Amino acid sequence: MLSWRAMTKPNRIDVAHMIEGIGRWVRQESPTRDTTAVNRMIDIVQSEVVDLPVTTERIPGRDGLADMLVVRSAGNGPGILILSHIDTVHPIGMIDEALCFRRDGDRLYGPGLYDMKGGAYLALEAFRQVVRAGSARLPLTFLFTPDEEIGSPMSRSLIEREARQARYALVTEPACEGGKVITQRKGVGRFDVKATGVPSHAGTRHQDGRSAIKEIARQVLAIEAMTDYARGVTTTVGTIAGGTATNVVPQYCQITVGLRAPDPAAAEEFKAKILALQPFDPDVKLVVTGGMNRPPLKKSEASDTLYRHAQAVARDIGFPLDEAGLRGGGSDGNFTAALGVPTLDGLGIDGDGAHTDWEHGLISSIEPRTLLMRGLLETLQ
Ligand SMILES: [Zn+2]
Repeated sequence: MLSWRAMTKPNRIDVAHMIEGIGRWVRQESPTRDTTAVNRMIDIVQSEVVDLPVTTERIPGRDGLADMLVVRSAGNGPGILILSHIDTVHPIGMIDEALCFRRDGDRLYGPGLYDMKGGAYLALEAFRQVVRAGSARLPLTFLFTPDEEIGSPMSRSLIEREARQARYALVTEPACEGGKVITQRKGVGRFDVKATGVPSHAGTRHQDGRSAIKEIARQVLAIEAMTDYARGVTTTVGTIAGGTATNVVPQYCQITVGLRAPDPAAAEEFKAKILALQPFDPDVKLVVTGGMNRPPLKKSEASDTLYRHAQAVARDIGFPLDEAGLRGGGSDGNFTAALGVPTLDGLGIDGDGAHTDWEHGLISSIEPRTLLMRGLLETLQ
């Protein structure tokens, strides 16, 4: 590849200006289920592309979720799809408490700043520069989605539709382990297990009852025992609910189960195991529903080539770019990779503490990673 830097002599990035912009984005808190708040966030993004030579399409949300925004540069044919989610896991009010927007040395704190408003913002800045300069070789489509943090139930079909027409997918999830990008993620499954027993008076008719809680207790141990660290498979009973009162043998109990699997074969194998759970007590009815929500993001030859290309761009900017090992968390990149689109993830801001009250991005990563995104948009062909 011709040296990107020699080709373009990219402008330096106005980091102070970008910190201000990131602040504007995190101050507009946007927990997934708060449609009004997330739509305000989409308003902000939309207002920041009005002066660009792009077409924007705002697709109304449904099922209690906010709108989706598609921003396209000119051009035809398969291009680059950039994916950013602008919802966060943090409830409204964190901005006034533990995650108030502030700078502490190299750290920049704010709700969703690391996951992933920081990354989305710097990708948009790169996009703005490239679109203004008309310097991309491929058409660009930037998708802002409102529901990634709950598994993208609404935006998945849009992401997949756009991915089918894309040559590459770039995902602005946070960088990890000191600036690494992500080329592999586990698949994510989700299941509900519901037990229905036989209720009875816990004092006078104990022997007639069949406890749904007792049944589920045994199922919890069986499910947790499926975890196989050597194979990278984990099963987690994440929530449990059941029973009505201390003096009733409980009729109902239910759990939700999370499955993480490194490859499609393991995903299928463990999905089948969970769906085939049988009651220990034959008098208790057990119903298991669910399946894989995100298929594993597997590294392919094409995605490895994309990663090496990004490495070369980074080298040119002046920093080494490594790839993280297999990640347990899923992203919308799982969907695009499953469709065979070379996908590079973890292109967002570096930092730490995703989903916690010490979530922060690193100011020192703003410039290199904005330049990296810009370099990718200008050199991929
Ligand atoms: Zn995220």
